[in-house]
Amino acid sequence: MAVKTIWPVDHTCGHHADRDLSDRPADRRAGFAEWLARQRCLYPLPHAPGQP
Ligand SMILES: [Zn+2]
Repeated sequence: MAVKTIWPVDHTCGHHADRDLSDRPADRRAGFAEWLARQRCLYPLPHAPGQP
C-alpha cells in the first residue's frame, strides 16, 4: 500500500492546493491538512471581500 504524502487542501477562501506533507509524521498528515485548510492560503491573489 502506497503511503499518501500529497494531501488535497481546500481552503475556506475556495482555493485548492495539493500539499506535500512527506516531512510530517504519517499519522499527523490528515490532521495537519485540516489545519492548513483553516489557514490563509498560499495564493497572493486578491480574495473576495470578507475572506482571508
Ligand atoms: Zn485563497
